[in-house]
Amino acid sequence: MNLQTTLNEVASEVRSLLGKGSVANYIPALAIADPTKFAMAIATVQGDVFCVGDCDELFSIQSISKVFALTQAFKILDSDLWRRVDRENAGSEFNSLLALELSAGIPRNPLSNAGAIVTTDVILTERGKETKASLLEFFRVRSGNMSIDFNEEIAQLESEHGRRTKALAYLIASFKNLENHPQTVSMLYFYQCAMEASCVDLARSLLFLANKGVCPISQEHVISASQAKRINSILLTCGHYDVSGDFAFRVGLPGKSCVSGAIAALVPGKMAIAAWSPALNKDGVSLVASAALEIFATKTGLSVF
Ligand code: GLN
Repeated sequence: MNLQTTLNEVASEVRSLLGKGSVANYIPALAIADPTKFAMAIATVQGDVFCVGDCDELFSIQSISKVFALTQAFKILDSDLWRRVDRENAGSEFNSLLALELSAGIPRNPLSNAGAIVTTDVILTERGKETKASLLEFFRVRSGNMSIDFNEEIAQLESEHGRRTKALAYLIASFKNLENHPQTVSMLYFYQCAMEASCVDLARSLLFLANKGVCPISQEHVISASQAKRINSILLTCGHYDVSGDFAFRVGLPGKSCVSGAIAALVPGKMAIAAWSPALNKDGVSLVASAALEIFATKTGLSVF
């Protein structure tokens, strides 16, 4: 299979969809994104990288950062993490307060905003003042790109507009499932959302999940093979809000969507894939990136099923 040829074919097949859907508009930095942009990159566990489209373009990784926070919290607490956050699809919006109230402050899964508040809290308890720098370092080392950085303006805007996320943090604290101040934890969450990267960075950074927990870039054993398996299963069942079933049905790969229009997906044992196009469908998933991943999976037959 020639992956570059396949990527080129995918790019030409999605071209007619560019411009459909609508970009997130809750902060200006996302609202001004050009909906006709598209990029897709593949990083293989052997170290090859293939890409097509606007692959140098940077975007904030938003909810995809929840995968990194989950990884680090899981490494710290191992199975004790599941006392603080569940691993079931929420069947509700990613920032639902109602779901959290019903579960008495235990977020339904680590890929919801409430779940990311808890995983970030775990990391903060472990690392204290080093936390913010260490979250960035984790992404940099995983991708092999030490120039990845926070977009300070996006972080501040996320905080300004993230009232609901802050409310979730306070609600979790009210159920005594937070060890640090809700404001501090929320701010760290917003910073993670505001880390900026390209599709190539994103694909490379997630390779450890396709490689039994070992980062092929740094050779580090990031997490155990069993932990990687569990994270992949959570990505499959919870990675795309309350339409995770639809993504599993159409693409059949563990993955994570985010509001800036990026989607990352894993082919265990083989590769990590990132696709990006800013315009979202009615469910908040990138319209073109999800179509691209579906076409890619169909063409190559790559799927976990
Ligand atoms: N920063 C966004 C939020 O917390 C991230 C959401 C997302 O990408 N789904 O609202």
